[in-house]
Amino acid sequence: MTITAAYQGVEGAHSEVALTAWLKTAGVAHELVGVPTFRHVATAVAGGKADVGLLPIDNAIAGTVRDGYDLVAQYELVPLTELAWRMDHRLLGLPGASASALREVLAHPLVIEECGRFLGTLAGARVVPSIDTGVAAREVAAGADPSRAAIGPPEAAARHGLIELAANVADHPDNVTRFLAFRGRDARDEVRALGDRLGASRKTSLLLTTRHERGALARCLGVLAESGINLAKLESRPVLGRPWDHLFYIDLEGDVSDPRIAAALEQLQPHVTSVQLLGSYDVTSGSAPPPAAPRPAAAAAPVAAPALPASAKGWPKAARPARPEGTRVPVGGGVVIGGDELVVIAGPCSVESREQVLDTARAVRDRGARLLRGGAFKPRTNPYSFQGLGWDGVALLAEAGRATGMPVVSEVMSVDQVERMAREVDVLQIGARNMQNFDLLKAVGKVDRPVMLKRGLSASLDELLAAAEYILAEGNPHVILCERGIRTFETATRNTLDLSAIPVLRERTHLPVIVDPSHGVGIARWIRPLARAAKAVGAHAIMVEVHPNPPEAKSDAEQALTYDEFSRIMDDLSRIGTGVDA
Ligand code: PEP
Ligand code: MN
Repeated sequence: MTITAAYQGVEGAHSEVALTAWLKTAGVAHELVGVPTFRHVATAVAGGKADVGLLPIDNAIAGTVRDGYDLVAQYELVPLTELAWRMDHRLLGLPGASASALREVLAHPLVIEECGRFLGTLAGARVVPSIDTGVAAREVAAGADPSRAAIGPPEAAARHGLIELAANVADHPDNVTRFLAFRGRDARDEVRALGDRLGASRKTSLLLTTRHERGALARCLGVLAESGINLAKLESRPVLGRPWDHLFYIDLEGDVSDPRIAAALEQLQPHVTSVQLLGSYDVTSGSAPPPAAPRPAAAAAPVAAPALPASAKGWPKAARPARPEGTRVPVGGGVVIGGDELVVIAGPCSVESREQVLDTARAVRDRGARLLRGGAFKPRTNPYSFQGLGWDGVALLAEAGRATGMPVVSEVMSVDQVERMAREVDVLQIGARNMQNFDLLKAVGKVDRPVMLKRGLSASLDELLAAAEYILAEGNPHVILCERGIRTFETATRNTLDLSAIPVLRERTHLPVIVDPSHGVGIARWIRPLARAAKAVGAHAIMVEVHPNPPEAKSDAEQALTYDEFSRIMDDLSRIGTGVDA
């Protein structure tokens, strides 16, 4: 049996990509039909022209998609599953186009809401709503005008022959849309079965209007609370034609066949003027696979299992035997540290302005960097030195990351910054001066973000591993160690880059190890040979500081690389192998 499935748009639309993925997972033969509007999706299913339909109902950035909930209710469609779909928004243009020369960007109105910050950075480009993502991409391809671009997923680029001008352009990387797949009332058995095949968690959606009297909503919520039902969503919307009356969208965890939910629906009756049950449905999630790494892998040899020092008892979770195969840390945007590919992290020491960080981001991205660095909270030796732009700097760094499709890393200096920082950047950096700030280590151990832990100025490797253990012990498995030079009697260089740390750490721990030659030597012209050495000795990643105009840098000017110097380093790195596979 083949199922006909309706979505809004044309090929390459997010709905089409999500619907295809769901039907594939469900293992049913299907035929897709793209229709012009959300309402057409609902009427196609209600009228029997399609077996199932898919509509967005909620987005993590833009909020409720009113049309989605309302159409399902209005046409009495039956929800089958909620699909939480990670939206991969990219800026797509014609070959040869450049983001800075755009005059027009076409996007679905919901996508415009999700990408407001990025669109605001495209000075001179008019944002034009388009009925659909696929249509936007198709129009840009047909128009042959390189000053026009569209926002859409990589599938839209592939389908319409466009190239990617920027990735990750949504206001936040955690950009998930909840789609609802539904069927008509009189569906065939095979279609009905799509709604209860997973048996995973279930949700129930209601549309409810309360009496216009004091405490009505509170009493409704009280009924749910007393029944022990968890609320997944509550949102009030105006009722058309009845100003100041309110309609509430309510999602509950659980199935309507659960006696607690059935009883709660009864008990709500005296407090409401209407309650409409949208239905109960499965909760599933999915997203497109991350894009393939653009550069060939440099293979790292497996590490043998020599005896660990006695001190390893103090860091069992960090010790190599805990994960003999090595830990691979996904840092966002499909980039992994600890895999076969050497990752280059680059960017300014400090974020100084929008132009400075955006220009640097573009320059390093175009030369092969995969991760953007930039300090906003700066641990400076002297209180009168530039202290960083704080949260404004974090926002500018995140914006530059989105504009260039790179995940971002920035230093977090105190416990009270951790939660917010974890929301705004992809990787949390613990600076050398904080390597043994144990409260901070515990705090970053509790969040769901990779941590780059820098070796303290005079910390032994044993102490570095014990510090990593603090983070692992709190439950965060994604720790990356960074050798950034230590204090020795030598004064010719800012620090002494301890390259012996890399083979030692690779033997003793499964955590990825990266090298920061910028802070290691502190003098721009000596960074290049040390970057080569870092790759040769087996680093998983290299982090360097780059500035559009090094003499003007507000921090660490002596070690800032020019774009040309950075190019030469990238060129060197592409021509040498790693020490471990030699
Ligand atoms: C940095 O990377 O910006 C930095 C301050 O480094 P460290 O903590 O190694 O001095
Ligand atoms: Mn620095």
